[in-house]
Amino acid sequence: MIVLPFRFARLSALGIPHGVTKRDPSLPVSGSVSGNATLSIVLANRRAWWERLGVPLEQTVFARQVHGTQVTVVTASERGRGALEPSTGIPESDALVTTERNLPLAVICADCVPVLLYAPDVPAIGVVHAGWRGTVGGITRQAVRILCNEFSARPERLLAFLGPSIGPCCYEVGEEVITAWVARGPSGRHQAVLSRNGRAIFDLWRANELLLIEEGIVPEHIERSAICTRCHAEEWFSYRANGARAGAQAAVIALP
Ligand SMILES: [Zn+2]
Repeated sequence: MIVLPFRFARLSALGIPHGVTKRDPSLPVSGSVSGNATLSIVLANRRAWWERLGVPLEQTVFARQVHGTQVTVVTASERGRGALEPSTGIPESDALVTTERNLPLAVICADCVPVLLYAPDVPAIGVVHAGWRGTVGGITRQAVRILCNEFSARPERLLAFLGPSIGPCCYEVGEEVITAWVARGPSGRHQAVLSRNGRAIFDLWRANELLLIEEGIVPEHIERSAICTRCHAEEWFSYRANGARAGAQAAVIALP
């Protein structure tokens, strides 16, 4: 049975091509689309997944992610960067936004939160890679600001989707993570800090929701997959469950 990408019902209903790739045991290295295998295997897996996504791989723009807070506006001249040759991806970016149609954007994650953004009034899209460093730095907020400031997207119209990633069930962190978040986080930031058995837990899902809400996104317009990659490491690539060599999934969105 073919493994299909994860999709958000609301985005599908709106006709927005998108999805998050998963593990597929029938593919080499379980269908990882980044890093842990030879380039030819990674590209074969990307081709297999992009066919299932119904999105042209050769047109897709990838970022060279650095766990930073840089958001890059992607134009048609960047079409295909990083898709077939990772070194040509958009440098030092952990979020991409565009108003260009048929220009898919992708981020790679394995526990980090992939955030998809859709501004129907522009229209414009964005994709964000938010691990703890990016979340503490406010990358999701920054992506919303770029959509609103540069493209005049209205925050109250904006839709946001948090893809499969490590959940509050599993994300124990060091105190330095919590300290950094509390020092810089949005209002309500303590809602993203939990504790279990004396260990600090950082709720990346709530943290990113709070960043979105602070920018004026309506809570009802934020949807979480609520799938923890570590709890379901047989279906998803999880850095915490399997280490850096285990592979990664991709989150993709395009304006039709
Ligand atoms: Zn979990």
